[in-house]
Amino acid sequence: MSFSFRSVLSRLFVAEYNCIVCGKELHALNRYRLCELCYGLRFEVLGEKSCLKCGKMLLAEEEYCLDCQNHEKHFDRAVSAVTYTGAAIELVTGLKFHGKRYLAEPMAKWMTDRVLEFETAFDVVIPVPLHANRRKERGYNQSELLAETIAESLSLPLDLTSVVREKDTLASSSLEGGRKAREENMKGAFRLLSKENTAGKRVLIVDDVITTGTTSSCLAEVLKKGGAEKVYVVTFASTRENPPIQEGY
Ligand SMILES: [Zn+2]
Ligand SMILES: [Zn+2]
Repeated sequence: MSFSFRSVLSRLFVAEYNCIVCGKELHALNRYRLCELCYGLRFEVLGEKSCLKCGKMLLAEEEYCLDCQNHEKHFDRAVSAVTYTGAAIELVTGLKFHGKRYLAEPMAKWMTDRVLEFETAFDVVIPVPLHANRRKERGYNQSELLAETIAESLSLPLDLTSVVREKDTLASSSLEGGRKAREENMKGAFRLLSKENTAGKRVLIVDDVITTGTTSSCLAEVLKKGGAEKVYVVTFASTRENPPIQEGY
């Protein structure tokens, strides 16, 4: 077998048997494609101690985080698999900015398992849409890749057309003035084109990271105004304190 042919084959197949964080060979296919070491040490897994509204890690013995105690969010509940720290940052940025689409499937499987811990009844899955300009620039929507696997795992319809992102919003990190500026920036960002798939339904929104929750909340607001019965959110990671990255970029 020629060297180049072998390298093509390895790119096609061997990746499935390597840890998506450290690249170490896995002895068998595993659900999240992670070696024991990376799974055990390089993620901060979210469990019971997370906010009942936004899903972020709780730092005190409370049911809701400080932010949710003080600010209304339009979704019913959000949940994440891990905090946006350590290897989670590598995976999210790899998927989002470095074209590593193959990361979406194992990440989405983790998200699916996590969401089923708190809710099992959904009617439709909707990824947070990207603005057409951004999508063109990146070539794909990372949330859509995650949503594909989640919808398939839950045997639910994937809706990519009911809602669009009309405003090419600025990256949150480039905004000064905190929450108010972020909310202002997101105002009118989404538009519901058709209520058919969402009115009276339980919608599951999919995104890669939740920071302030402003993006998910705005999308949830649009869906609720269109008659959605419940709006849940699942993200791979959630930031701990001050958001270090841009949300919804
Ligand atoms: Zn590893
Ligand atoms: Zn919260």
